[in-house]
Order: sequence, then C-alpha cells, then structure tokens
Amino acid sequence: MASARIAKAFTRRSLTHRFTATRTQSLFCCQAHQMSTDASSAAARLSSSGFIRSQGFIGGKWTDAYDGKTIEVINPATGEVITNVSCMGARETNDAIASAQEAFISWSKVTAAERSKCLRKWYDLLMSHKEELGQLMTLEQGKPLKEAIGEVGYGASFVEFFAEEAKRVYGDIIPATLSDRRLFVVKQPVGVVGAITPWNFPLAMITRKVAPALACGCTVVVKPSELTPLTALAAAELSVQAGIPRGAVNVVMGNASEIGDALLASPQVRKITFTGSTAVGKKLMAGAAATVKKISLELGGNAPCIIFDDADLDVAVKGALASKFRNSGQTCVCANRVLVQEGIFEKFADAFSKAVENMKVGHGFTEGAVDVGPLINDAAVHKVESFVQDAISKGAKVLVGGKKHSLGMTFYEPTVLTDVKNEMILAREEIFGPVAPLQKFKTEEEAIRKANDTNAGLAAYIFTTNMQRSWRVSEALEYGLVGVNEGLISTEVAPFGGVKQSGLGREGSKYGIDEYLEMKYICMGNMN
Ligand code: ADP
Repeated sequence: MASARIAKAFTRRSLTHRFTATRTQSLFCCQAHQMSTDASSAAARLSSSGFIRSQGFIGGKWTDAYDGKTIEVINPATGEVITNVSCMGARETNDAIASAQEAFISWSKVTAAERSKCLRKWYDLLMSHKEELGQLMTLEQGKPLKEAIGEVGYGASFVEFFAEEAKRVYGDIIPATLSDRRLFVVKQPVGVVGAITPWNFPLAMITRKVAPALACGCTVVVKPSELTPLTALAAAELSVQAGIPRGAVNVVMGNASEIGDALLASPQVRKITFTGSTAVGKKLMAGAAATVKKISLELGGNAPCIIFDDADLDVAVKGALASKFRNSGQTCVCANRVLVQEGIFEKFADAFSKAVENMKVGHGFTEGAVDVGPLINDAAVHKVESFVQDAISKGAKVLVGGKKHSLGMTFYEPTVLTDVKNEMILAREEIFGPVAPLQKFKTEEEAIRKANDTNAGLAAYIFTTNMQRSWRVSEALEYGLVGVNEGLISTEVAPFGGVKQSGLGREGSKYGIDEYLEMKYICMGNMN
C-alpha cells in the first residue's frame, strides 16, 4: 500500500483538545501536538517500510474487500486515523477458508521438523522487528511503547515454544487384549482453524493460537479485532517471509458477525478458538454445534486479588499494582476486586494508593516511563465512568483518581476506591479499566467465599507469607490460574485458561497443542 494513502488517511478524526488562553492548557496542546507528531512520524516510517498493511490476506495474497469497503483504524491516544483497512465479510471469509483447506493438504504432510524450522524463523523475524511491531501496537492500541515491545517478546515466545513442541506430538502404543492385535494412538491436526481475537493483545492473542495450530499441521483463518488489525497483518506478512506456505495463514477483518457466521457455518473449519467477551463466546459455542466443531474459549474474568494480614506489604502492593494496571487494566486476568483482610487494610490502602498516585499516565510514545496509556475507545471510558458512578452512588469512596484524565481523549486516571460492596456493578462485572476497588474481609473462609461468588473463573491472586494458607486457598479457589505473591503470571510454558463461564480449553504450554489435535486409534489385526 502506498504511503501516500496512509498519509492522506492520517487525519485528525476528533480533536483531543481545544485551545484556550490558560498556560497549562497551552502547554498541554504543545504536548498533544508533539505526541500526534510522534505518532504521525511512526506511522509514516512504518508505512514506508511496508509494516502498515491495509488489505486482508487471503491465500497468500493481499486482497481488498470485494465490494471495496474499508474501515478506519484509529489511534486511541490521539483520535487520528492511522489507515483504512479492508472491511470484509462472508465471501472473503469463505475464500480464506478454501485457501486454508488447500494449504492444509500439503502443510499437514510436511514433517514436524520442517514445520518447526518455519516457526522458528517466524519467531526470529518477529523478534528482529520487535521495535516496528511494538510501534504499530502502540499506534493502534495505545499501550506504552515499552509494554508494546514487551508484548512482542511475549507473543513471539509462543511461536518459539510451539516450534519446539511441534517435534513432540507423540502418540501411544497400547497393550492389546488379543494376541494378534496391535493397538496404536496417533495424533493428527484437526484441520482448518478459525481464530477470533480481541484488541487488548494485538499480537500475543494471535500467536498463542496460530503457533500451536501451525505446529501440528493445521492452517488458520485469523479474524483480528477491527480495532487493532495492523499488528496481525504485519505478523502474517512475516509468517510468509519465514517460509510458512501461502494459504496456511489467512487474515480477514471487517464485519465481525458475518465473518464469525461464515467460519461457524463451514464444515471445513474444524475448530474455533476465541478470546473475547463472554457474550460472543457463548454465541460462538452455540454456533459451533451445527457442524460439531472443536472449540476453545478464553472469555472474561473477575479476578479476586486477596491480601491476607500476613502478606509482605511491599510484595502485595507491587503484585496488585502489576496485576491491576497492566495494559491500563484492560486484560482478562486483571485484578478486578482487591479483597484485603481487616488487619492490614489501612496499611495496604495507604501504600497502594501512594503507589497508584505515582503512576505516570501518558501517550505510548512519550519519552521515559509511562505506566498507563489510554483506554481503547470512548465506549470503554463510558463503561468505566458508569461503573465508578454506580459504586459512588452506593457508598464507595474515592481514594485516588475517579475521573477522566486531564490528557483528554480516552485517558482515565488510575483510580482506587474503598468501601466497595458486592452489590456494586464493579464488584460483579469486569471493569476493563484502571480502577482498583478495595473490599475488606475478616476471615480466610469469607475471602474464599467472596472470591468464588462469581460466574467467572479465570485468574485469582493471593498474597500471604503462610505456606499452608497459600496451598489451602489456591486449592479452594475456583479459577484456572492462581498467582501466589505474584501479579504477573502469564507465560508461554504454563497453561492459560479459565473454568466456569471464563472458558474452555488451555492455551500455551505442552497442553495447548492438544486443542489442535485429534486422537486416532488404529487397531491392526491379523498380526501373528
Ligand atoms: P471485546 O468487547 O473485548 O471487544 P468481543 O467479544 O466483542 O470483545 O470481541 C472479540 C473478538 O470477537 C473481536 O475480534 C470481535 O470483532 C469478534 N466478534 C464480535 N462479535 C462477533 C460475532 N458475532 N462473531 C464472531 N466474532 C465476533
């Protein structure tokens, strides 16, 4: 795509700010202008080096929507349009599925060693372009550049891990019940995979699905979020440069429900893997029934972060902060409720509030450390505002923050609320923003009961120096992931996924590859 097209598209969509006479505001305008310039120059650089793709990727070809429609990709920090990408639907998706099916025939027969080499090359390319991919992510998603580059490393780690796992898809030999029989189990790729991903981790949510799928011989049709398709498209281009055959990785974006329905309806798509909201996950699960597809779902959470009286205060503050504010609170494993035992409550609330006050909010491209970037869009800000207002109207008190940030746009102040009760919406639903609600509890039993009193079951955190308690509580928590004295627990080598309505299946680790495999039992008779 021509950089002129990008430059033309790079117009300010909504003003971040209006000029007034006050000095502070004029300074801010200069800062906003500076940020906008940084974002513009990053976009121009990425565009001229071919990193901003605006078309879908079908059968290894960059393809416009068949009716020529496009959608804007907006920088959430500035409101500027980064570029317009193809707005695709059912027809393009069906062609992508056909390409994936054709590629599956050969890719599934390539040796595991060859597939491993291609994946390893893809990993190397992702890592050698981590600056560009990080910038792209900051542009379209808003997260601070350092965090974005960190996500490239995290996202790429799944590719490296599954490059290695590709070689370890072992079967079994079963002792036979009859002397002339030999019984075997072989594992084979499930087929074409539809991978639907959200905007909060524009690279990692894709590699966590695509890498294990490719490793065992599947091919994929990826549908990234329309809010952040650019990182996915750049990663797809690198996959081809790595030698992964054209057609093995396809990317379509645009009309989400049309694309989703086409993936569900196709008998060739044998597996749907989804990360996103519980509501859409339930729809996909129901839709997959018609063609009896395998399905993995990584849905919403409502993570409790439990601080016991015997916690190390510094460790608890650091862990709660990391868990709560990563990606501006927009992760499904974010601490959603901070449950603090009464004996440590005042000390914790004080130290935590001070740490939150010191967090630096800013544009992702700002020089120096920025801890918290913007939220993804206005709807996200309105949701956070309405949750905070609901809590205040029901008796919560604001210790820190509590409103939109003076930077404007979609920036929201890192916030701490106290006197939070179960009946408040933010104690029951995922906040997906930089708001930490503190709730007091008396006993361990009460903490466990409160923690489990939700339909969600993704991540939970506990802070305690008592080893027996750490085991006891970890075992009692109805969650797929538990962090003990640690707020950042995701890694490619451990299984990620939830229980209850937080989902089905696991991603990452040696278990993650099973989601893309079918088991076949082969019985050989007449073997005497
Ligand atoms: P979020 O609220 O975090 O954006 P969503 O579940 O709405 O979560 O979105 C996650 C992904 O699911 C995105 O790629 C989105 O476009 C896609 N999506 C939304 N609705 C549907 C649908 N009906 N069918 C298939 N995919 C969908």
